[in-house]
Amino acid sequence: MTEALEKNIRKVVPYVPGEQPQNPDVIKLNTNENPYSPAPGVARVLKSMDADLLRLYPDPTNGCLVKALADYYELAEDQVFVGIGSDDVLSMSFLTFFNSGKPILFPNVTYSFYDVWADLYRIPYVTCALDDQMMIKKEDYFKENGGIVIPNPNAPTGVYEPLETFEEILQKNTDVVVIVDEAYVDFADGPSARTLIEKYPNLLVVQTFSKSRSMAGMRIGYAMGNKELIKALNDVKYSFNSYTMSRVALLCGVEAVNDKAYFEEHVKKICETREKTKKALAALGFSFPDSQSNFIFAAHKSMPAKEIFAALKARNIFVRYFNKPGIDNYLRITIGTDEQIQALEAALREILLQA
Ligand code: PMP
Repeated sequence: MTEALEKNIRKVVPYVPGEQPQNPDVIKLNTNENPYSPAPGVARVLKSMDADLLRLYPDPTNGCLVKALADYYELAEDQVFVGIGSDDVLSMSFLTFFNSGKPILFPNVTYSFYDVWADLYRIPYVTCALDDQMMIKKEDYFKENGGIVIPNPNAPTGVYEPLETFEEILQKNTDVVVIVDEAYVDFADGPSARTLIEKYPNLLVVQTFSKSRSMAGMRIGYAMGNKELIKALNDVKYSFNSYTMSRVALLCGVEAVNDKAYFEEHVKKICETREKTKKALAALGFSFPDSQSNFIFAAHKSMPAKEIFAALKARNIFVRYFNKPGIDNYLRITIGTDEQIQALEAALREILLQA
């Protein structure tokens, strides 16, 4: 390749997704998936799907799923946008809303895709340090900026911030879009920022089917906000790819949204297991910020996280380890079934005893 040719190529340092091992024996607690099946209606759709329909493009407006979500959350259809997982929704949102040339703001410990999208789209950014409780310092978000994105609960810490914090940030930032990434909010004790979208036209709330609705493999995410924000997002989407959602994903998504009882029962189960896991980890000498999500971000008092990670992996238990300054002594452990967590506990006991 010539140097001139090389210069014409966009260079990015890509996001590194968690490992997806093909071995079914692995206890997979590394990518915050849900251990339970999607709502039974999803399997029904898959079994009865007429393959002939796949000749036709899907509905570019994602209408049936937009309607199901709007009805579920008591919003108007023009307040909802649907995309290919919240990664797609967030990426489109960065492209659409962070267009001022001024740096956008997000926490220094957060979802590691944000800096990748910012680099990809040439959006300048500044990160704001968490405090020693791993909470955000709201004043950091009161300075001039080109937009804000904060997950609530935050990842990988699991920490939930009260809505009042977001209200203050929204009030101090009326000229920029504030994105609250609520991938994990269904597992939190507190409310979603969705309740604020009528009040704050600069608020975009992004959620996903990947965690609480057990559908990471189907790739469905959505945003809720003021209709002008949703229109702007759709305009960019239609300028990128009109047919983002497959017919299969749209139909399955509707089934998942409509089964509220199944959803609530399984979210409750995960939260119960999470609370038991907290007790077990604390008894084993781990400390962690109080998680309101489907994972726990834990450091051990004596054994380095990297060693525990490797020892668990050798026992076919996968958790997530980030080799990054500031968080390189933590493991992010996804909440699985009670049985999976018991296996984790037994393995940890063995590993820590041997140390
Ligand atoms: N936001 C956060 C904070 C996440 O942890 C994830 C999961 N990796 C996502 C968004 C994206 O999830 P998905 O694309 O599966 O909806």
